[in-house]
Amino acid sequence: MSIDFKDKVAIVTGAGGGLGREYALELARRGAKVVVNDLGGARDGTGHSDMALEVVKEIEAMGGEAMSNGGSVTEYDQMEKMVADAKAKWGRIDILINNAGVLRDKTFAKMTPDDFEFVVKVHLTGSAFVTKACWETFREQGYGRILMTASSTGLFGNFGQANYGAAKLGLAGLTKTLQLEGAKYNIRVNSLSPVAGTRMTEDLFPEEAFKLFDPVNVVPAALYLVSEDAPTNAIVGAGAGGFHSSWVVMNDAVWLPDGERTVEGFAARWDDISDFSNLIAPQSGAEQSGAILKAMQKVTGTG
Ligand code: NAD
Repeated sequence: MSIDFKDKVAIVTGAGGGLGREYALELARRGAKVVVNDLGGARDGTGHSDMALEVVKEIEAMGGEAMSNGGSVTEYDQMEKMVADAKAKWGRIDILINNAGVLRDKTFAKMTPDDFEFVVKVHLTGSAFVTKACWETFREQGYGRILMTASSTGLFGNFGQANYGAAKLGLAGLTKTLQLEGAKYNIRVNSLSPVAGTRMTEDLFPEEAFKLFDPVNVVPAALYLVSEDAPTNAIVGAGAGGFHSSWVVMNDAVWLPDGERTVEGFAARWDDISDFSNLIAPQSGAEQSGAILKAMQKVTGTG
C-alpha cells in the first residue's frame, strides 16, 4: 500500500530546518503542495532569516510545488495571512503540522518569567493560533489532518525544561479536545513526540546518539499521522527507527464510603489509589529514548 499526498495542501511550521524540513520534503515528494513556514530565528527564538525559502528551492528543484512563509506562529494575523495566501494559490488546506519550536532551558530557579512565557507562547499558543487560522477551512471542507508536536519532556519530564514541558503537555491536551470537536467534520488530530538529532539537541546528545537519531527516521510516523487514513487522538513517539504510543492512563477508582470519606480515610487507602502495578509510566524523557533503544537492541542486538 503506498500513501500519497497528491492534490493535498500542507502547512508545516518551523520547516526551515530539522524535523520540519524533512516533513516538508517528504510531503512534496509524495505530491503535496507545501507551505514552508519558518521565522528563521536562532534556537532561542531571537532574530530571523530566509530559512523557509531555502527549503522551497529544494522542493522546486525536485519538481515539487511549495511556497515560503516567514511569519511567526505567535502572530495570529500573520498566520491568517499565511492561510489566505495558500488558499489563494491552491484553493484549500488539508494538512497542518505544528512543528515550530524554541528552547530556553534553565532550572526553574533560574528561569525568568519572560523565558517561561515566551516558550509557552511559541509552542502552545503558536500551535493553537495556526490551528485556529486553519480550523474554519477544515470544517467547511469536511477534511483536515493536524499534527501537534509534543515531547518526552511534556509527557514524562526533563530537568531544566519547565517552560518547554508545560507547553508540550499542553499540546497533548489541545489534541484531545480538538479531536473531539473536529470528529464530525473529518478533522483528525494527533500528537507526535519525536527524538531527533537537530540543532535543538546538538549539544544535548552525545555524537553517536546524534547520528543514530537522524530526523529522517521520524518522517514515517509524522506523515502517517496526517494521511487520509490517519487515526485520531494518538500520541506517538518516534526516534532512531523505534516507534511507540503513549497514553494518559488511570487505575481503577477506589470508592470511599461516607464514614471513610475524610482526609485520614484517603490517606489510609493511598496505596490502592496510587496503585499503577499494571501500567507503564516513564518517569523521565530519557526513559522514552531508553525504551526506543531497548527495542532496537532486541531486534539488532546492538546499541
Ligand atoms: P529546530 O530548531 O531545527 O526546528 C524548529 C524550527 O522552528 C526552527 O527552524 C525555527 O526557526 C522555527 N521557529 C521557531 N520559532 C518560530 C516561530 N515563532 N514561528 C515560525 N517558526 C519558528 O528543531 P527540531 O528538533 O527540528 O524541532 C522541531 C519540533 O520538534 C519542535 O517543536 C521541537 O520542540 C520538537 N521536538 C524535538 C525533539 C528533538 O529531539 N529534536 C524532541 C521533542 C520535540
